[in-house]
Amino acid sequence: MTSTHGPLTIERDRLQALGDAIAGEVLTPQSEGFGAANQLYYRHLDRTPAVIVQPRDTDDVAAAIAFARAVGLELAVRGGGHSLAAHSTVEDGLVIDLRHLDSIDIDVDEGVARVGGGATAGAVTAAAGEHGLVIGFGDTGSVGVGGITLGGGAGFLSRAHGLTIDNLLAVELVTADGRVVVADAERHPDLFWALRGGGGGFGVVTTFTYRLRPLPQVVGGMLMVPATVDTVTEFVRLAQAAPEELSAMINVMPAPPMPFLPKEQHGELVVLALLTYAGPAAAAEPVLAPFRAVATPLADLLQEMPYRGMFQPEPDDFHPVATSRNGYSRGFDRDDAQLILDTLTKQLASPDVQMAVVNTRVLGGAISRVDSDATAYAHREWPLMVNVAAIVSDPSTLDAQRPWLEALQASLSGGTPGAYGNFVGEEGPDRIHDIYPPETYARLATVKAEWDPDNVFHRSHTVAPGG
Ligand code: FAD
Repeated sequence: MTSTHGPLTIERDRLQALGDAIAGEVLTPQSEGFGAANQLYYRHLDRTPAVIVQPRDTDDVAAAIAFARAVGLELAVRGGGHSLAAHSTVEDGLVIDLRHLDSIDIDVDEGVARVGGGATAGAVTAAAGEHGLVIGFGDTGSVGVGGITLGGGAGFLSRAHGLTIDNLLAVELVTADGRVVVADAERHPDLFWALRGGGGGFGVVTTFTYRLRPLPQVVGGMLMVPATVDTVTEFVRLAQAAPEELSAMINVMPAPPMPFLPKEQHGELVVLALLTYAGPAAAAEPVLAPFRAVATPLADLLQEMPYRGMFQPEPDDFHPVATSRNGYSRGFDRDDAQLILDTLTKQLASPDVQMAVVNTRVLGGAISRVDSDATAYAHREWPLMVNVAAIVSDPSTLDAQRPWLEALQASLSGGTPGAYGNFVGEEGPDRIHDIYPPETYARLATVKAEWDPDNVFHRSHTVAPGG
């Protein structure tokens, strides 16, 4: 076994020794299966690492870290592979690919889930759902629990139950020097604070322990109406005014070619709202009725179902080329709606842009009841998150999208600083200050200096040791 990729050729003996020492797999670009192992969610972010290690336990993880450090390979850690910043891969370096660390242990009596660092949100949601229990991640099942949890985790249950990190009880991780450490409220509380929103820069998380909550069913799904200034504004207003059992994502985007939509609607701008009421149908009905009354729905797929039904099936071969801009906002008015409609209409006329969407998430509720300094995710006070995204077919046209995405997002947020790390792509070194406000940044730098002084885990939205 050898890797001749990149600037240094790793001697066959050393790689062979690593392969012999661990229970998991060691792949090089010459190995069968390397291409599949190297596939990320976003097509344009592909890099060619010199080595991919797929550990089967914490010892394997420690061996992979030690190997990368000894050989001088840059390290990347991969959970679900959905990073928009290419953080879970590295050209010519070593990727620790956690796909085999995907165990899920649901302890019904204790009401907790112990989950391997390479599991997906969808798998955990399905396993917990078997027992009528839930933990909220994001809106997509294929996202890894690793990345979404370490960044915060905003999704279909956030207003009702808080962010994913607000339901995180403990973390087991392998540190840069190979120690296996458990962090929770009592053990290494500063590290536990940093792991809740501070990104993957502190070690390789091998187990997450989450609190589960009983929720036998939700009322949720998609509600779609034509997008006008009135409908867009009213959906956001209603979602903000709703009780916190309701979490809402209001997308303004061209109608996808869904089979139940008349052909003439395909491509027309619509409000595609994803609503989740965390409670019984009788309580949900009066909350959802005003949304249904905003305009005659083009599609009303709201229904009572187990929470795991909120995750749509995803085709394995969907690997988009996309870019986005994220921020928070204090409010939303008719001018915002008009700007969104005008901008999307203009940009979608470009042959380069396959899809463009403005995704407004209503925050508050349980998210904002946690103090801003209680976790490294500090943006607790914002009522709205806005994510503006474009999908293109040709990666060379991505850069051309950035100016209008940034301008639109800045206008919608009133130019206020602040960004959610999990939605930040390759946007330059200054963006870290939008993700972490000054006090959070300073505290993260101290924790980082203690646990990863050599910045081994730098492929993340992480603060450098000591700042
Ligand atoms: P990876 O690319 O594997 O990892 C991302 C980062 O986390 C990397 O720095 C990696 O090193 C680190 N990491 C991953 N696992 C571990 C681990 N076990 N130990 C240490 N470090 C680790 N976010 C939301 O909050 N809500 C949403 O609704 C939402 N929807 C999304 C939908 C799509 C289609 C996509 C692509 C992303 C979405 N996200 C959402 C963003 C998502 O949370 C981030 O992209 C997240 O980082 C992905 O995690 P991952 O493990 O899949 O990614």
